[in-house]
Amino acid sequence: MRLADRTAFITGGGRGIGRAVATLFAREGARVFVVARTAAEVGRVAAEIGEACGASAASHAVCDVADSLSVGRAFAAAREFFGRGPDVLVNNAGIAESAKLAETSDEFWHRHLDVNLSGTFYCMREALPEMVARGWGRIVNVASIAGKTGAPYIAAYSASKHGVLGLTRSAALEVARKGVTVNAVCPGYVDTEMTTRAVENIEARTGRSAAESLAAIKGMSPQQRLVTPEEVAALALLLASEDGRGITGQAINVDGGTVLF
Ligand code: NAP
Repeated sequence: MRLADRTAFITGGGRGIGRAVATLFAREGARVFVVARTAAEVGRVAAEIGEACGASAASHAVCDVADSLSVGRAFAAAREFFGRGPDVLVNNAGIAESAKLAETSDEFWHRHLDVNLSGTFYCMREALPEMVARGWGRIVNVASIAGKTGAPYIAAYSASKHGVLGLTRSAALEVARKGVTVNAVCPGYVDTEMTTRAVENIEARTGRSAAESLAAIKGMSPQQRLVTPEEVAALALLLASEDGRGITGQAINVDGGTVLF
């Protein structure tokens, strides 16, 4: 098992990519703590993992990563559950909405930066000191290929994910000699609720059918398909494991070849 005796704090663990990461990490021997705003979803994921891997394998808390006090409370609960801080932090919580730049309100702009970028920062600030003190730690930030390129109507989302890459690279260099790695994964379109909402959005804006809208999204990938949450989780596992110790400061795409840098 590649994460035996490890502890992992996973944000946005109630569904989609975060759920896949939590499930895989627990199967690989980690004790996991999943957080998100929807209690029923994180509760369900922790219960599923508990059934599969034993009751002490998973716990959960409600947390809004955009609120540093809420993040502090969730880490305190995780420390109580683990008996120490997490060895692995996966910053996966995120939101993605689209709007023309000129129609992007202050609230819309700040919401994307608050959740996607500040939320990642707050969790890193909580987790890093103990990782450095222990001389071992792994941080995996779920960014996006929108953190490397741009696209129409996603200025706020893309800017927030570009910020996550800057945060990742700077933090990686800061702790490079401390046994701690910090990396980002950059998915293309993944088969989750977030993409279902993107499909609905294309339908509403263009009048295309759901099937046509989904085909348009799949067509953006050279592999002509959506990435699965499990594929993103597999990369997160490599980065979180001992095998990933030489990889730091990187932003690795899981996108079927859509972006080649
Ligand atoms: P999803 O199915 O919508 O899941 C998002 C998760 O984040 C949920 O558990 C959600 O729970 C949580 N979350 C959202 N806002 C939060 C907040 N303020 N505090 C705490 N948790 C919060 O989306 P997904 O596709 O799995 O996306 C996961 C990550 O992958 C995101 O960072 C996203 O940007 C990135 N990504 C996704 C795709 C894609 O195509 N799906 C592509 C590239 C990158 P609550 O709503 O209950 O809080």
